[in-house]
Amino acid sequence: MKELSYKERFLRSLRLESVDRVPMPAFCTHPLVELMEQTALSAPDIHYKRDDMVKFALAAYEILGLEGVRLPTDGAFEAEAIGCPIDIGAMDRNPSIANHPFKLDDIRIPNDFLSKERIPIYLEAVKTVKRQVGDDIPVTAHFQGPLTMASQMIGAETFLFGLTDKEKEIKALLDIVTGICIKMGNALNEAGADILQLPDGMATSEIISPQMFEEFVQPCFQKILRSIPCPVVLHICGNTTPILPLLKEMGAAGFSFDVKVSVSDAKKILGAKMSLIGNISTQETLLHGNKDDVHRECLAAIRSGINVLAPSCGFAPHTPLENIKEMINTAKGTSGR
Ligand SMILES: [Zn+2]
Repeated sequence: MKELSYKERFLRSLRLESVDRVPMPAFCTHPLVELMEQTALSAPDIHYKRDDMVKFALAAYEILGLEGVRLPTDGAFEAEAIGCPIDIGAMDRNPSIANHPFKLDDIRIPNDFLSKERIPIYLEAVKTVKRQVGDDIPVTAHFQGPLTMASQMIGAETFLFGLTDKEKEIKALLDIVTGICIKMGNALNEAGADILQLPDGMATSEIISPQMFEEFVQPCFQKILRSIPCPVVLHICGNTTPILPLLKEMGAAGFSFDVKVSVSDAKKILGAKMSLIGNISTQETLLHGNKDDVHRECLAAIRSGINVLAPSCGFAPHTPLENIKEMINTAKGTSGR
């Protein structure tokens, strides 16, 4: 097989077509302090200034060696743009939503949220990166999932209680956030993102039962996935084994999952339908382990049938770069171990 470009290898892996080896693209967030220090960049600037956002995303490809470019490194853009106050974060702490000003029985969002707060910076950064890397390098971007966004708006506790005692209002809220997701996903795709990641930490089986997932979450995901033309990969953290069968008919290009889910189980249930992405432990192995640990876990994931090698969630800010380089070398078969 002729040498595939990074983009072709990633896309073929998502389509479950044959490839020469697993790709290791920029897939989850990577607010890496060591990489910022090497490039004289810093947080929170990389989250707020377009040029710094672009330089940092390119550094993860050019210096660290990830096989693609990914923006951005935090998940608060949409909630911030529709009116949630933000905590700007620090060198090793991503921006996050500071409080939850929306009331469940009175949800009003600005129609022009795509032009508010940091979203124009984000869309412009995607356009700039795309122009700079050309067509052989995959550009990945993420947009926040509906449950997490709803929780950012009204608070996780109000949201979770609402699932049982304010069902109608929760469904109306989810309908609104689903619309936000669709607009955001399409805007990112139009800006140049080749592949989108749709993370939704609140949809994990550690928080939501499979019955609730089927009733409240699945319809939102299906609508979002039907409405966006490029490949979209779902990312749900934690143990999602109970909902694997529900993910099968969702229409996602792939599922990116946590180390708590066995690759073999996911392969048995989803393997014929969607690409499997993950699931190297971000804490135990990548943050606290050494290169041998990383190599061993990557090889095990590859042998169990992972299609795209990736961390189980966003990289922790203090992850040693040499551990990430070991992941890349293991994917390439050049680790020498
Ligand atoms: Zn995650």
